[in-house]
Amino acid sequence: MKRKFKQKFKQKKKDDLSQTKKKYSEFTTKCRFCRMRVDEIDYKDMQFLQKLVGNQGKLLSKKRSGNCATHQRSVKIALKRARYLALLPC
Ligand SMILES: [Zn+2]
Repeated sequence: MKRKFKQKFKQKKKDDLSQTKKKYSEFTTKCRFCRMRVDEIDYKDMQFLQKLVGNQGKLLSKKRSGNCATHQRSVKIALKRARYLALLPC
């Protein structure tokens, strides 16, 4: 009796996990700029740039922010322009 109960419990857990994984993969596309269909990132937009900058003013990595390669590059350029104009602290 005990064994059967355990097996049933395990099967239920596996089913739940598979369902959640499917939902997760459906809704998430990684890059936030790809989702919004932005071509070039504006260096005057402080709302975006401050989200992509860490506590010390450094740019967050691609892995952490979830940006794709092209958008990560354009973020880097926008951040440097913003620093030059003293919109962000160096
Ligand atoms: Zn992108």
